[in-house]
Amino acid sequence: MAMGEPWRDEGGQSRIPFGPGPVARPLLTDPDAPDYDNILACIRCGLCLSVCPTYQTDHLEVQSPRGRVALIRAVQEGRLPLESPGLKEHMYHCLDCRACQTICPSGVKVGELVVATRAEIARRERPPLLERLLKRVILRWILLRPERVEQLVVPLRLYQRLGIQALIRRSGILDRLPGRLRTLAVMEGLLPRLPARPLRGQLAEVTPARGERRYRVGFFLGCVMNVVYAEVSRATVSVLTENGCEVVTPQSQRCCGAPHAAEGDVETLRALARYNIDLFAAWDLDYIVSDCAACAAQTKEYGHLLREDAAYRERAEAFSRKVRDITELLAEIPLTPPAGGVPVRVTYHEACHLCHAQGVRRQPRTVIRQVPGVEFVEMKESDWCCGSAGIYNLTHAERATKLLDRKLANIAATGAEVVLAGNPGCLLQLEAGVRRTGLKAKVLHPVQLLAAAYRAKGGPSDIRDRAAERSGG
Ligand code: SF4
Ligand code: SF4
Repeated sequence: MAMGEPWRDEGGQSRIPFGPGPVARPLLTDPDAPDYDNILACIRCGLCLSVCPTYQTDHLEVQSPRGRVALIRAVQEGRLPLESPGLKEHMYHCLDCRACQTICPSGVKVGELVVATRAEIARRERPPLLERLLKRVILRWILLRPERVEQLVVPLRLYQRLGIQALIRRSGILDRLPGRLRTLAVMEGLLPRLPARPLRGQLAEVTPARGERRYRVGFFLGCVMNVVYAEVSRATVSVLTENGCEVVTPQSQRCCGAPHAAEGDVETLRALARYNIDLFAAWDLDYIVSDCAACAAQTKEYGHLLREDAAYRERAEAFSRKVRDITELLAEIPLTPPAGGVPVRVTYHEACHLCHAQGVRRQPRTVIRQVPGVEFVEMKESDWCCGSAGIYNLTHAERATKLLDRKLANIAATGAEVVLAGNPGCLLQLEAGVRRTGLKAKVLHPVQLLAAAYRAKGGPSDIRDRAAERSGG
């Protein structure tokens, strides 16, 4: 425990450094700094404490949204150094799940304040050379081109196809690794059965609608969806065409920038946003759709991100206005009811990037309930983070596992055979949890359920078998 920090008392206990009152000029005033007015909107009511997964795990004020706002306020009022190691620790303990933003009566955007504070810390600190190089290579080289991400996955696919993964898992060797090397075990445990090929090269740039064309929709194919969940995004395109959408998938699209936002690399994030805006603007699109909640949440923020850029402001806003999560779009246009049925008991986990960041809660349930034969059971705490949260399950593995176990217990209590989730990070995390615990539930994306119902063409479809095919289980 770092002593001598303003939020520790003499005994080392956490306390919040409340100051005398607002200052005339906050310390950080650049456009990306934590918004001081929004910080001042916090009335310290504590409503957010009941929904914050980190507070509910630790019961420490500094691990609560209210506590985090107070720490950021202390920075802005010059009572707490931005370089303090304890501040960084508390900012990175936050999942950025934004559950607090959904409930806050004063409109305090705690998750956004935390992310902005992380970016300010990142701009000032100088991490070890190797760490800096690694981040630079990942954020500014690999993630800048989809083909580089695709090449990176090739050795992983060989690792699985040559049977090395099965050997490693059976041996349990990774679980015996010491200290920080244990992250390798967590990463390995998350790796699902990879598709034979990425989807990007297999999709035509324009996929025609089935029957009469009602809409022309741009498809934002996320990096992870492309190389890990190709069958999900294939199902998305198929469901869109069933619903009268011509689907345009620009082959040279790039990362949405969500990993850059999480790591505070705002410069690269803006460059990616400008690139994608120009690329999609070349098509006359009614909507831009994604089946990755994180991509949709990020691209919906392009307008805000480029608000100071006179050349891009309007185009960025127009782009963001068109973005929809796949279930949001299907509920809006609205869904053509599938003729086939899928007789299965399902429950639904709400991805934070969908329910809290985008406020999309009703629409996934609306479309799931329209699938004939489905018995839909709500789980307790459906909108609680599963512990995935970007790379939180790697950087804070123990905390993430506690959240995952809580989620798995809630899934098990429903007796559902299938758990649905609309974000690749959640799918990876839930699948890993199911493998580890042996829970009898298949983890799928809602579009897979819909695609199965359309495929069934009037008869029943057994989605449990198809899921088993993919997972090799
Ligand atoms: S962040 Fe919002 S909900 Fe939490 S204490 Fe402040 S005003 Fe209340
Ligand atoms: S974003 Fe999530 S983890 Fe972070 S303070 Fe809000 S509720 Fe807690």
